[in-house]
Amino acid sequence: MPSETDGVMIILSSPSGAGKTTLVKKLSDHDNFEVSISHTTRKPRSNENQNKDYFFVDELEFERLIKNQEFLEYAKVFNNLYGTTRTPVIDKLNKGKNVLFDIDWQGADQIKNKKLDYKLITFFILPPSKKILFDRLSIRHINDKSMAEERMSQFERDVLHWINYDYVVINNELEECFQKITNLINAEVSNGSKDYDKEFIRNHVEKLIS
Ligand code: 5GP
Repeated sequence: MPSETDGVMIILSSPSGAGKTTLVKKLSDHDNFEVSISHTTRKPRSNENQNKDYFFVDELEFERLIKNQEFLEYAKVFNNLYGTTRTPVIDKLNKGKNVLFDIDWQGADQIKNKKLDYKLITFFILPPSKKILFDRLSIRHINDKSMAEERMSQFERDVLHWINYDYVVINNELEECFQKITNLINAEVSNGSKDYDKEFIRNHVEKLIS
């Protein structure tokens, strides 16, 4: 049983372009919430900082961490390796901090299967429509149209994992989506009633994949 004083693990996953990273950053402004910083073999983007956005490492170092069993979870995503080291997460949780994870469905599955002694809440963020997603991805990858197209075809596969999450939230408007997630976290922590319509989500997913 999770102890009352321990922090809560909150996972946010989404297909690329649904706005999850912005949501994680916004949630981390809450008192007592901290983002888990992942290791990755991906090269940093121009707006990213070492040890802040990621621990950027080479494949050799990543392999060493795997061998030493330091990862709580790790996975290959878009040809790069990404992983969450166990010790910083457990330390934060034991200090009563809530830990936010911006990780993909493979990592979410692994953490779920570990059945750790901490409360876990998982969210899957979806775009309002395929058209809006494509527009967002086209802006992000303005110099590389094929990248936007590749991410769209990946979307069709990723979206099928929605069923394994506690909650699916549609990111139509950032503030509204943020509020929904915050309300659901508060309701989970206090065992309150949850404003959540799974049938509505199922219909939305069906529209997205049709
Ligand atoms: P990006 O390269 O755009 O920062 O992230 C690509 C994908 O990798 C995103 O879906 C992100 O959530 C996921 N990701 C980032 N860190 C981790 C991690 O530590 N583990 C796993 N499994 N996925 C991660």
